[in-house]
Amino acid sequence: MSTASSAPLPRSDSPTGLRVVVIGGVAGGMSTATRLRRLDEAAQITVIERSGHVSYANCGLPYFVGGVIEDENDLLLQTPERLYDRFRLDVRINAEVVAIDPLAHELSVRSTLTGELSQLSYDKLVLSPGAVPLRPPIPGFERVRILRTVEDAHQLFGDVSSAPASAVVIGGGFIGLETAENLIHAKIPTVVVEAADQIMTPLDAEMAALVARELKRHGVHIETGVAVTEITPTGVVLADGRELPGELVIGSIGVRPDTRLAEMAQLALGPRGGIAVASTGQTSDPDIYAVGDAVEKIDAIGGEASLITLANVANRQGRRVADHIAGLSVRPAPSLGTAIVKVFEKTAAMTGWNEKRLRAEGRAFRCVRSHPMSHATYYPGAEQMSIKMLFDPDSGEILGAQAVGGAGVDKRIDIIATAMTGGISAPELADLELAYAPPFSSAKDPVNMLGYMAENVLSGDFDVVEPDELDALRAEGWTVLDVRTPEEFASGTIPGSLNAPLDELRQQLASLGDGPFVVFCQVGQRGHTATALLHDLGKTARNFDGGFLTWQAAQEAAGRA
Ligand SMILES: Cc1cc2nc3c(=O)[nH]c(=O)nc-3n(C[C@H](O)[C@H](O)[C@H](O)COP(=O)(O)OP(=O)(O)OC[C@H]3O[C@@H](n4cnc5c(N)ncnc54)[C@H](O)[C@@H]3O)c2cc1C
Repeated sequence: MSTASSAPLPRSDSPTGLRVVVIGGVAGGMSTATRLRRLDEAAQITVIERSGHVSYANCGLPYFVGGVIEDENDLLLQTPERLYDRFRLDVRINAEVVAIDPLAHELSVRSTLTGELSQLSYDKLVLSPGAVPLRPPIPGFERVRILRTVEDAHQLFGDVSSAPASAVVIGGGFIGLETAENLIHAKIPTVVVEAADQIMTPLDAEMAALVARELKRHGVHIETGVAVTEITPTGVVLADGRELPGELVIGSIGVRPDTRLAEMAQLALGPRGGIAVASTGQTSDPDIYAVGDAVEKIDAIGGEASLITLANVANRQGRRVADHIAGLSVRPAPSLGTAIVKVFEKTAAMTGWNEKRLRAEGRAFRCVRSHPMSHATYYPGAEQMSIKMLFDPDSGEILGAQAVGGAGVDKRIDIIATAMTGGISAPELADLELAYAPPFSSAKDPVNMLGYMAENVLSGDFDVVEPDELDALRAEGWTVLDVRTPEEFASGTIPGSLNAPLDELRQQLASLGDGPFVVFCQVGQRGHTATALLHDLGKTARNFDGGFLTWQAAQEAAGRA
C-alpha cells in the first residue's frame, strides 16, 4: 500500500520556471508531467489528483479483483514521494480541482480529506480527468458496483472475498469480459448481460462468436440482445421479464468523457461530446491543453472526431502535449483504436474499422479471412487463430483487422496496425520481411498470407464468397463443394454440399456438373487451390472466405449452432 500522505510536497526547486498544472495523475496526466520534466528542468510542475493514488495501473484492476494480481502494490506504479525525488513533481493527491478561472489563470483545489480550499496559479494547464462511467437510470442501480479506480477495486475485492453465490456483469465489452473472467477465477457463477446482439461490439459478429465460445467453455453464461431493466436486492430483471440471480452486480456499460473541468473553463466541446482539441492538444483556450479519455480524437480511417478511450492513446497524447508546451513541434496523430483483450485462454485484438461500421458508413470494402497457426505446426505448442482483414477494393488501403485465438494474435494485429500507420496497403503485406524460426512463426507469416490473399482478391481473378452471400448463391443454383477429406466431410459440413477432396478433384469433376461452384475447405487454403484448378478447367468457381471454420463461427453468431 502506498505510504503517500495528502500533505503537499515541496514545490519545484525552480520558482522562476513556467508554472504548469496537470489535473489527473494517471495515464495522460502523468505522461505529460514526466515528459515535460525531461524537457524542462526549470518548469514548476504540479499534478492534482482527486483519488488517493497516482500513476496506478487501472488496466490491471480486474485482475486484482479476481486474485490473479495478489499484491495491490503491484498496481501502484508510483508514489508522490518517488515522483518528487526523481522528477521534482509536486504531486497532490486527495485534491480535487473544483473551479477554473481561465482569465486569471487560477484554480481552486479542495482537499477531499478536509474540505479545505486553496488557490493555484498556472501559465499552462493540462486536463487529463479521464472518463465517467455510465450509470443508466435503471431502478436499483445504486447497488451496482463499477470498476474504475483503485478504491473501486478494493470494494469489489471485498465483495468477491465474501464469496457471493452469483454475479451478473452488465455489459459485454472489454472490462466487462475481463471482470467476468476474474469472477470465474474466484469461483463465482457469472452471467454477462449485453443489450446489443453480440458481446465485444468492436468485433464483427462471427469473430465475437469465437470469444463467446471461450467464455461459455469456462462456464460464463451469456445473455445478448436483452437489456437489464431493474436491479433487485437479489438479482436483475431483464427486458423480457426473466430474473437472473445476482448477489453481486457489476456495471460495465461504457464511459463518457469527463468534461466537467472543461465546462468550468468554458472550453469548446466537440461533436461527440468530448473536449475539442487541436493536433497540438490545445483546447479552445491556447493555455489549456487536454489529453486522454476526456478528449475527442481524430479517427485515422474516416478523419472524423471519435471517442477512443485507451491507455496507449492517452500516454501518446500526454507526451505530445509536453512537447508542445516545451516548444517542440508535434505531429498530428490520428487514432486507429487498436485494442486487445485476454479472455481466458484466448486473445481478441482489433484495429481500425470493422465490417459493421464500414457497411453503416456505406464505404466499399473487400475482406479476407484466415485461420493460421501461431507458428510452424511441426514445432510444439502452435495455436490456431482467426484473422479477418478489411481493405479498400480500389486502393488496397487497409481499413481494419480483427483476430481471435491463442498465441501470436497480438503480434499480427500490431503488425497490421503498424502497416496502417505507415500507409502499407493490404497486398504489400505480402512483401513484409518478418522474423521467422519455427517456434515463432511460419516462413510465410500469417500477415504475409493476408497480403497474398488480398492480392488475389484485388487481381479480380479470385473473388471470394462471404458468409452472408452463401444462401443467395445456392438459391441461384451454385453447387457447394467441400474439398476436404472424406473424414473431415463426415465429421460435419455445410448442409447440402458435395464432397470432392482436393486431391481427387480432377477425377471427380465430370460427376459434379458444370457449376458454378462455391468451394470450401477447413480454413480457405485448399479451397483456393481448388478454385484455381476449376478456373483452369474453364469452370466458374469462388472460394468461401475462411472456409468451414468461418462458416461455423457465422452460424454461431446467427444463433444457428
Ligand atoms: C478497469 C479498467 C481497465 C482498463 N483496461 C485497459 C486496457 O487493458 N488497455 C487500455 O488501453 N486501456 C484500458 N483502460 C482504459 C485506460 O485506463 C484509460 O484509457 C486511461 O487511463 C485514460 O487516461 P486518462 O489520463 O485520460 O484518464 P485516467 O487514467 O482515468 O485518469 C484520470 C484521473 O483524473 C482524476 N481527476 C478527474 N477529475 C479531477 C479533478 N477535478 N481534480 C483532480 N483529479 C481529477 C481522476 O481521479 C483520475 O485518477 C482500462 C480502464 C479501466 C477502468
